[in-house]
Amino acid sequence: MPLVRVGWLLVIVLASVTPLRADPDEAPSPDATEVPKYEEFLVIPLRVHVLTSKELPEVDCKLADEDISRVLGKVNGIWHKAGIHWGLESLRREPAAEEERFKLARDLSGPGNLGMFRILAPRESRRFDGLHVYYIHKFAVNGVWLGDGVCFVQETAKLRPVEGGIDEPLPRVSAHELGHGLGLPHRQNRTNLLASGTTGTILNATEVKIAREYAEKLKGTKSVADLRKSAEGDEAILYWKWLAEIPGEGQDEAKKRHEELQAKAASSDKAEK
Ligand SMILES: [Zn+2]
Repeated sequence: MPLVRVGWLLVIVLASVTPLRADPDEAPSPDATEVPKYEEFLVIPLRVHVLTSKELPEVDCKLADEDISRVLGKVNGIWHKAGIHWGLESLRREPAAEEERFKLARDLSGPGNLGMFRILAPRESRRFDGLHVYYIHKFAVNGVWLGDGVCFVQETAKLRPVEGGIDEPLPRVSAHELGHGLGLPHRQNRTNLLASGTTGTILNATEVKIAREYAEKLKGTKSVADLRKSAEGDEAILYWKWLAEIPGEGQDEAKKRHEELQAKAASSDKAEK
């Protein structure tokens, strides 16, 4: 067979075996409505930073610990339908870094330059296998995914309400930015999580698949089986806390184990004093 014809044959064969990428407009992916089985959950460690500033009132964030735990609870309510749990590794209240450099960048490029907000993230608390959310008071957008594991969200976020949407903006904006962090692009269907500026929270099956594949590749992500292997120490207390937050058949056992580990740590603390 002449070489040219072999080439064409190869093209035809490849075209017939390569699955076509689903066009979201032609074949809509079904909404993810069921929380998957407990064992299928992936836990992504999350470090939350509340940035404070005396110099920059627009940065100085006033969110209280209760706000963060309420917001994160709702973020997880959204993401549990994808079998993804955001495990709070720590909550850092910290002064914004390099304020003078930030002011210079803002004066030079204007408030629309969102990349400059990265300057405010203290370097020492960036070292971490997981994703970061930085809360600030106010900027030109509700939130932005800056790449490299970092997003910024304004505590003064406002959204357009849509039917079935969430009751407050902050969890939705945080969950949306984390969606970008898991490789999801915008999908402007109003009532879904990746639509811009609405209270929608819906993820579809395609988005769940993409986000989970992405999560599996992230350094720091742990499966339920990984977390269960941890038996002793501070890490075990944290890991069993995350396991106790995942809905499903393993939750009660995890709560019990978490309480036992906490009690054990408390009694050994006393023994040392
Ligand atoms: Zn977005």
